[in-house]
Amino acid sequence: MTVSILSASTCADSTGDQQSQEDFNYVADQFADIQILRYQVPGFEYLSLQQKRLLYHLSEAGLMGRDILFDQNGRYNLAIRRTLEAIYLNYTGDKNSPDYKAFETYLKRVWFSNGIHHHYGEDKFIPGFSEEFFTTAVRSLDTGLLPVKEGSSADQLLDELIPVIFDPAVMPKRTVQSGDQDMIVASANNYYGEGVTQEEVENFYNAMKDPADTTPVSYGLNSRLVKENGQLTEKVWKVGGLYSDAIEQIVAELQKAAGYAENDLQKQVIETLIDYYRTGNLKTFDDYSVLWVQDTASEVDFVNGFIETYGDPLGLKASWESTVNFINKEATKRTKIISDNAQWFEDHSPVDDRFKKKEVKGVTAKLITVTSIGGDCYPATPIGINLPNADWIRRDHGSKSVTIENITEAYDKASQGSGFNEEFVWSDKERNMIREYGFVTDNLHTDLHECLGHGSGQLLPGTDPDALKAYSSTLEEARADLFGLYYMADPKLTELNLVPSPDAYQAEYYKFMMNGLMTQLVRIEYGNDVEEAHMRNRQLIARWAYEHGKDDNVVDFRQRDGKTFVVINDYEKLRSLFGTLLAEVQRIKSEGDLAAGKELVEKYAVKVDPVLHREVLDRYAKLNLSPYRGFVNPVMKEVKNKKGEVTDIIFDYTEGYTEQMLRYSRDYSFLPSYN
Ligand code: ZN
Repeated sequence: MTVSILSASTCADSTGDQQSQEDFNYVADQFADIQILRYQVPGFEYLSLQQKRLLYHLSEAGLMGRDILFDQNGRYNLAIRRTLEAIYLNYTGDKNSPDYKAFETYLKRVWFSNGIHHHYGEDKFIPGFSEEFFTTAVRSLDTGLLPVKEGSSADQLLDELIPVIFDPAVMPKRTVQSGDQDMIVASANNYYGEGVTQEEVENFYNAMKDPADTTPVSYGLNSRLVKENGQLTEKVWKVGGLYSDAIEQIVAELQKAAGYAENDLQKQVIETLIDYYRTGNLKTFDDYSVLWVQDTASEVDFVNGFIETYGDPLGLKASWESTVNFINKEATKRTKIISDNAQWFEDHSPVDDRFKKKEVKGVTAKLITVTSIGGDCYPATPIGINLPNADWIRRDHGSKSVTIENITEAYDKASQGSGFNEEFVWSDKERNMIREYGFVTDNLHTDLHECLGHGSGQLLPGTDPDALKAYSSTLEEARADLFGLYYMADPKLTELNLVPSPDAYQAEYYKFMMNGLMTQLVRIEYGNDVEEAHMRNRQLIARWAYEHGKDDNVVDFRQRDGKTFVVINDYEKLRSLFGTLLAEVQRIKSEGDLAAGKELVEKYAVKVDPVLHREVLDRYAKLNLSPYRGFVNPVMKEVKNKKGEVTDIIFDYTEGYTEQMLRYSRDYSFLPSYN
């Protein structure tokens, strides 16, 4: 499973100031509803040459399959991308015309979505240029530059592509997930052949399943199901099968990578993956996944394959993706310190002793640095990954869970120039605090929430774990957040060397209160209530603390120039309020007190002040922030000596979005236009 975030949420959650802390240029491009960022790869220089070369070849392997995803997302996507690129590279008309500008934006969107449908909303883009512009541009090109089928002409290509690009009724949605229609027939993606119905797919795969099998393979994961002569048959994605030209290149790079493996187990992981790509055998894929889970000692790690099934309405077929990374030892040390002290935190928490765990086990989250993202992780990028997906492997062998620290850092840094904090934070004092400590305390709060918060506390004997019903996720998130907030300010964190200053926690407190009381409303449409559990939890905590601190004026709303701001007057009292609420939420959970839990949520977490909501939305709209963000990769380069031996691998961070996309289309494109 991948954890994604919309950048709108990062804008609200992340913090910082107008000034950039470094010279690094985080923003690479902006178009439509998208902002393209760059990420850095800190710590790479400390790796051994062997590890660097391993990362290099895994990263190359991660780029080789780019065409696969385009074709999976729609059968005309490669032909469309190549036609658009041919126009882009050879156009001789007016490049300042509105048609051309709209064409450029459309091409950037197709690159971003790996196809003609929105990467998140699933709807087909409506081109801002005319059919006439497109026709003229295509006809002006030498046919040899166009992806025409053998013996076919530019006009035949136009006949085929024009309805797909311009007619809103043709292939309107990439993946249809609900409704009464046949979801397989209605989805525009290319996981099933023409004429295959949902019922046929269900029958086909149900017939394969054996209810007695406790370790079933992921049926259908790596193939397109098509009808040939009236018979359903799987076209398997493997060497010698469908997408072979790209998969052979992936395998070639994986073979090179295997030569630089850190240890025997990792070598076995890579070789088993190669074996799977060669045979298409799903049993081998499971063998690979088990080995991959067991490899926790290697510093370098990667995902490469047909992994996530979000694109298939039936959740069977997986899109191709890649991430390549190495462990961030410093950051992982942080979560280990927290985990190692789990019992101390449990023993000293403000909750009633009856609700405390006698023996608590902290969880260590691994924090990683990516060197390359590809396929369905590019350019829109997850911030966390938890794999494998097969239930039985998770049950019998566990899973690996990671947070991609250099991606979250890039989100944070890029937000610093967004104007968001200039607009919503009360004064320079808070802004400076957030700029100095915000990233550290944000991560620390997440660590405390994940490694300790959720695992803390116990139910009283006889309490039904499902007693809190629909309110359970909000209350559970609140419990974990409060645990983190309470300990953010504890001297223990200074003692453990986890905070740069005893006051650093104030940055997190301010951000949390501003977000929960006000700025997270930018994600809610005017007139709606707060629905999502994490958002409800944040409003619950912020509103409750605001109300209960009123007599002491702990937190207040102030007006300036007709705008509302959150001001915190007493950070220490705010901490004790968090402690009080933590004790109460833990009591509710431990006793299964549904009535009290319901009242807390309904009273503080759901309703929105319409006047404040309107104001926040209007102020946010003026900032012109992009709701979606993605990344370009840094360019990895081999440094060679006079004898031609590789002596180092270095990064170049200067490549732009368009440059990168054109280069990938030139150097990492192996599939025919129609597959
Ligand atoms: Zn949580």
